[in-house]
Amino acid sequence: MKLSWKNFLLWSIPIIVISFFIWQGFFASTTNELNTNIANSRMTYGRFLEYLDMGWVKKVDIYDNGHTAIVEAIGPELGNRVQKIRVELPASAPELIVKLKKADVDLDAHPTRNTNALWNLIGNLLFPLFLIGGLAFLFRRSNNSTSGPGQAMSFGKSKALFQMEAKTGIVFDDVAGIDEAKEEFEEVVTFLKQPECFTAVGAKIPKGVLLVGPPGTGKTLLAKAIAGEANVPFFSISGSEFVEMFVGVGASRVRDLFKKAKDNAPCIVFIDEIDAVGRQRGTGVGGGNDEREQTLNQLLTEMDGFEGNTGIIVIAATNRADILDAALLRPGRFDRQVSVEVPDYKGRLAILNVHSKNKKIDKDVSLSIIARRTPGFSGADLANLLNEAAILTARRRKNTITLNEIDASIDRIVAGMEGTSLTDSKSKRLIAYHEVGHAIVGTLLKDHDEVQKVTLIPRGQARGLTWFTPSEDQSLISRSQIKARIMGALGGRAAEEIVFGDTEVTTGASNDLQQVTSMARQMVTRFGMSNIGPLSLENEESNPFLGRGMGSSSEYSDEVAIKIDKQIQFIVKECHEKTLQIIRDNRVVIDRLVDLLIEKETIEGEEFRQIINEYTPVPDKEVYVA
Ligand code: ADP
Ligand code: MG
Ligand code: ZN
Repeated sequence: MKLSWKNFLLWSIPIIVISFFIWQGFFASTTNELNTNIANSRMTYGRFLEYLDMGWVKKVDIYDNGHTAIVEAIGPELGNRVQKIRVELPASAPELIVKLKKADVDLDAHPTRNTNALWNLIGNLLFPLFLIGGLAFLFRRSNNSTSGPGQAMSFGKSKALFQMEAKTGIVFDDVAGIDEAKEEFEEVVTFLKQPECFTAVGAKIPKGVLLVGPPGTGKTLLAKAIAGEANVPFFSISGSEFVEMFVGVGASRVRDLFKKAKDNAPCIVFIDEIDAVGRQRGTGVGGGNDEREQTLNQLLTEMDGFEGNTGIIVIAATNRADILDAALLRPGRFDRQVSVEVPDYKGRLAILNVHSKNKKIDKDVSLSIIARRTPGFSGADLANLLNEAAILTARRRKNTITLNEIDASIDRIVAGMEGTSLTDSKSKRLIAYHEVGHAIVGTLLKDHDEVQKVTLIPRGQARGLTWFTPSEDQSLISRSQIKARIMGALGGRAAEEIVFGDTEVTTGASNDLQQVTSMARQMVTRFGMSNIGPLSLENEESNPFLGRGMGSSSEYSDEVAIKIDKQIQFIVKECHEKTLQIIRDNRVVIDRLVDLLIEKETIEGEEFRQIINEYTPVPDKEVYVA
């Protein structure tokens, strides 16, 4: 038994002390009922007897083996109010009871609890002993078993704080859409399976691979797949689990983890969220964190400590490599970096294929439509989407998942829960105009994404929604595309203004306006799309070690700041005027679309375009340019 008695003794001393005080408090609270019941005023025994004779005593409570009484009495001296008074009784006053009985006074005697000193002492000893016994029990359990509730007490012994999977059961085929990363790792699998091929020619097997990518893109999955393909055990721990309250615990956990890994080599050690320990040292508001640094140092020591050919490959995951300590990225440590990106259309289709295998999806559903509707979704989002759709299907008591359930799930994931729709009212009409405003501006502008649907069914915070089908390539956006987006976002407010007048506009556009401002600002300060010229005046990245905004140092003079504001106002004003014009020009069809929307609650993009087409030619959209 590797029970650390040193540890045990260390912990039992404070516990004895603490429990002594707890016990004292507990004991005191039971015996001091008398004290809490206490009257501040006192009277002598003689006076009490007088009161009794006068019939002024209402109630007598006897405490303390008959030594003290709390008397409730009323009398002229007491201001004619019932008051509690304390009376010390003489050692023996047998005649008192008789007197009280005669006077028909409410009498109560309270048995005293064990005030006996011996009992007190035993109690004080027993309670901590009991606690220590419990503690020892916990220690025993945590040392005898590798799992179960006992481990909470095994400070520093990372018995349960890293997981070990002998077989992950995940293969490369389960990972889709991130082919480059997969290829990179096929080599690692060969290292693990046939190290002799490499060592024979003097090649050093890499020790560490860093997986970088946004959450949910399949980093953990990929690491498990490597272990699964190579048929080696998989040890995993999360960086945040290293960071402990107690200094030194994290480091000892790293030591344990690597010790176990060496015993089980070849194997994969996976460190998730390594940025939690691996941040650049000596940075951060409020100085460094000793514990984190010790943990990081231990990790570096361990990685240097094992020879390249022991068959341990450390895979770490993070969503930001830029904040990692340079020492971690040095050759011989995590010198290989593999980035995993949010999947593109093809990737999403492949991931949907993997996750639809075990689901009953209607044969009419084409996964490519789903893939098209979900730009920006990570692998985890897509897996979640299909699961949500399956749950919805079961709730609707259908046999197969149809496009309807999938659509509803996408909407829900993107915009939140569906609310109950408004009853017909003025505000419903206003929301309808607002949404149709967004949709018509979006439809008539050449460079705007296509309208997918307009709906008055509230979702999340939004009271109505216009959905656009985003174009696939979002990486390069032209100036007129951004302006089209600004105008589209202004469409809602513009419709409110034209239809209801300036005084009736609502707060409903606040979100739109936020987007408008941010887009216009970026045009000026980041993309060089204003009269100020091609200058980069602000960076997208805020300082990762400061809160948002805190680190955004302005790299321009106050004069330029004024210019920036002017340019932003200029862009927004121009877009706003153009948007108002579109609404004015198309008022007839807008009124018709609003009536239809209020009646149907949702208009699909195709129908929407057809109706507009009857008035203004949509397909060539030559009419309006942003
Ligand atoms: P990360 O570690 O990058 O945050 P995970 O590997 O934990 O993401 O992914 C969570 C889940 O999402 C996986 O278990 C899997 O079901 C799904 N998933 C994510 N990416 C992919 C992918 N590329 N292929 C298949 N499934 C994926
Ligand atoms: Mg993960
Ligand atoms: Zn809006």
